[in-house]
Amino acid sequence: MKTPTQTNAIDFDSAKLQRLGFGQPPLRPYRPATLTELRQQLNQQLQTSLEPERILGLFFREIQRLVPLDALQYRHAASDLRLEFGHRGHHSVSYTLSHEGEHLGELILRRNQHLTDEELSQLESLLVSLLYPMRNALLYRAATRSALRDPLTETGNRVAMDQTLQREIDMARRHMHPLSLLMLDIDHFKKINDTHGHAAGDSVLRAVAGAIKRQLRNVDMVFRFGGEEFLILLSNTGRDAAGMVGERLRQAAQAQDYWVEGKRIELTVSLGCSTLLAAESAESLLRRADNALYVAKREGRNRLAMAG
Ligand code: GH3
Ligand code: MG
Ligand code: MG
Repeated sequence: MKTPTQTNAIDFDSAKLQRLGFGQPPLRPYRPATLTELRQQLNQQLQTSLEPERILGLFFREIQRLVPLDALQYRHAASDLRLEFGHRGHHSVSYTLSHEGEHLGELILRRNQHLTDEELSQLESLLVSLLYPMRNALLYRAATRSALRDPLTETGNRVAMDQTLQREIDMARRHMHPLSLLMLDIDHFKKINDTHGHAAGDSVLRAVAGAIKRQLRNVDMVFRFGGEEFLILLSNTGRDAAGMVGERLRQAAQAQDYWVEGKRIELTVSLGCSTLLAAESAESLLRRADNALYVAKREGRNRLAMAG
């Protein structure tokens, strides 16, 4: 089979852009544009989206009409965002985007060929059209993220959990991967509230959430399920491995130092673990983890029970 290198390059590009949710990039040659034309067009086009992926993808595609580039990388640490379009290039130029003192991320543009002074000045003039759309997209992202988070423990809330659980079940089915769930509940938490007050209880809740998150690869899969209950989704994890993670979480929660009114207090957690069965619903998977948790409590707490 003969595949010219150039075609490969184009395929690679489109695969990358699609992965970023950009849709179908055109395979036609780019129609050249003047700086004025392109600036006007970008000003209109970039406003039509609130997704950083789409805005930067459009920018990267359209800018080729005036200043061909090999890659665009974007980072915005505050929103935990890292995006990359295209290949790597030998030469690079980086910009810090900011608007009225607000940091809007770092942009790195790359090309194998050297960028001329004229091209740099054209790029800089076009970058301005990114500012408002990116600011709006980052604000929107922050708002939607906060709607999905529990502010006390910095974990996902119930809404996020429902969405993520269904998505993970669908993915597990499609790829025939295992999926497990841990339900974790603090032991005798009411006593902490009763003895030391609600504020102390809150700080213990935060500490438990921190201990859980430090043990996990993917902290986006930890949710506050109820008052002092957390749910941990373990994608691509079967029963045995999930049991090991659960045991690690139990130990980590116990080993954590909890300070209340200058005194160290002892604290343990109990866990229930279930693994997705063929054709099982989200409700049933949750119910089986909850039943296992109940068994762990009944058998003396500070332990993990596996669903049958
Ligand atoms: P068990 O070992 O059986 O789980 O006992 P427990 O005391 O932990 O369980 P129980 O369900 O009886 O009590 C849970 C308590 O958690 C009751 C409620 O006041 C408290 N709680 C729920 N949400 C919060 C919160 O956001 N902050 C604080 N401080 N307490 C909370
Ligand atoms: Mg409890
Ligand atoms: Mg509880």
